[in-house]
Amino acid sequence: MDYYSSQITKLIEELSALPGIGSKSAQRLAFHIINMPQERVDNLAHTITEAKKNIRYCKKCYTLTDKELCPICESTKRDAKTIMVVENTRDMAAYEKTGRYEGIYHVLHGAISPMLGIGPSDIKLKELMMRLSEEEVQEVIIATNSSLEGETTAMYISKLIKPTGIKVTRIASGVPVGGDLEYIDEVTLLRALEGRIEL
Ligand code: ZN
Repeated sequence: MDYYSSQITKLIEELSALPGIGSKSAQRLAFHIINMPQERVDNLAHTITEAKKNIRYCKKCYTLTDKELCPICESTKRDAKTIMVVENTRDMAAYEKTGRYEGIYHVLHGAISPMLGIGPSDIKLKELMMRLSEEEVQEVIIATNSSLEGETTAMYISKLIKPTGIKVTRIASGVPVGGDLEYIDEVTLLRALEGRIEL
């Protein structure tokens, strides 16, 4: 790519390192950015820097937020006695989009995967157990993906929670095996939630 100036090449390289951006898209984006008015470029750069600086974990559910508590944990309209455990913030957003789930969440930020060397201490599991001992919880709905890792994590969590006497359920398998929650349509998500089974 040495027919571009080194700064353009650098910009294309940075962009193509982002997930889902191939080298063609990276080139298109790079030239788009260069042609943007200076003010918009400054805004974009500023927004990225500020987001990175200010976004942190919600103190309660560990989703990403820019305040101490995320809007869901802070809301008094949510049923705080029901916690849905999801692998990541995108899965949480998928359930929020259905507009029908009234409980709160716990975001694990990953799933147990012996193959990838990800153990229970590498995800926010300790934090979940801490919440269960401090908050008044009636039901934990495990909504990890139906991949091998998601199922392993669900089993592990249910074994941990069982002795506490708190009801543990798993979303129904209407979600296709290996399917990422975030790509599944809302009707299927709702059906999986409604058809959840007690573990
Ligand atoms: Zn929260």
